[in-house]
Amino acid sequence: GSFRRTYNFAAGPATLPQEVLERARAGLADWQDLGYSLLEAPFTGDEFKALMETTQQQIRTALALPDHYHVLFLQGGASAQFSLIPLNLLPPTATAGYVETGHWSTRAFEEGQRYGPAQVIASSRDSGFDRIPPVSQWALSEHLHYCHITPNETANGVQFQSDPDCGSVPLIADMTSEFLSRPIDIKRYGMIYAGAQKNLGPTGLVIVIVREDLLGGARPETPTVFNYQLQIAQQSRINTPLMFAVYLTHLMLVWLEEQGGLKTVQAHNISQSQSVYRLIDEDDFFHCPVIPEHRSVMNVCFSIRATQLTQRFLAEASARGLVNLAGHSQAGGLRASLYNAQPDDAVSALTSFMNDFRRRYG
Ligand code: PLP
Repeated sequence: GSFRRTYNFAAGPATLPQEVLERARAGLADWQDLGYSLLEAPFTGDEFKALMETTQQQIRTALALPDHYHVLFLQGGASAQFSLIPLNLLPPTATAGYVETGHWSTRAFEEGQRYGPAQVIASSRDSGFDRIPPVSQWALSEHLHYCHITPNETANGVQFQSDPDCGSVPLIADMTSEFLSRPIDIKRYGMIYAGAQKNLGPTGLVIVIVREDLLGGARPETPTVFNYQLQIAQQSRINTPLMFAVYLTHLMLVWLEEQGGLKTVQAHNISQSQSVYRLIDEDDFFHCPVIPEHRSVMNVCFSIRATQLTQRFLAEASARGLVNLAGHSQAGGLRASLYNAQPDDAVSALTSFMNDFRRRYG
């Protein structure tokens, strides 16, 4: 049957392209003419193995990954990595450095602290997470085993504007909410990881990309299914992988290529977010707490200065089919997430609603 399709601005799980959902539906009915659904296929079968291999290659091509970076498909979402990174990569007495720029980097630090002497080497907490501290001010030192960053803070709407150079300290990045939204300089990173539920769609799946030379020191208590080196040796199939999530990721990577690849998608994302930020900055009705240079292209976080209008804004937006615009539960305010799949129509519907709302209540 038909239903009323709304414009979904959720921070993740996020909106998906209609054509990808249709292709996924077809695969759920009959996959590769096997006479059964993808969900019924054996994970050890040739067809599914080939799907995983293709998906890995698509990621390698999109990010121009050199051979000494491994690509893993793991379970437990991005949050599980907050623990699995130290278990796999950090000797018990070594120190890990964290750059604290908002909600998610703080979560990563708090969890990381359980596994050894973790240290915040830079923070923008005092200014309300309104910016990214410049690398020149980070307390980077040779004794750090690695340095963890969150290049796009989903809840705070603050984003690194480039891939930082940490010299000889391996850089580890939680790219969950910006993964595959722009080209990256992979050489700058020792490891990147991303929960797939933003630019790729499915929940639960986390993609881990790790440089060969960082491996080899997993702690003995690391669960086998979460041991990077053991999973690499088994092509991420030690146990039953997230088959549907890998399939949807594959379809999203096909779609990404159809859009023209990362450079094109990045320009498109920037132009969408600029149109919302421009409106916010026009006068004092709306407010964005983040300094202009470090505003997120993916998650536009803002508020109405007359905060008593916030609930009315959400209710009226929703009545017009513009949904899930509430800010993160801890950050409050409003948030419009504009991942790769957000259609231009959604963004222009949002800006015209914001204009109209301001005209009526400003
Ligand atoms: N890291 C970032 C930057 C996120 O935005 C999120 C989810 O929104 C997470 C981690 C947590 O992801 P998951 O729910 O897959 O554990």
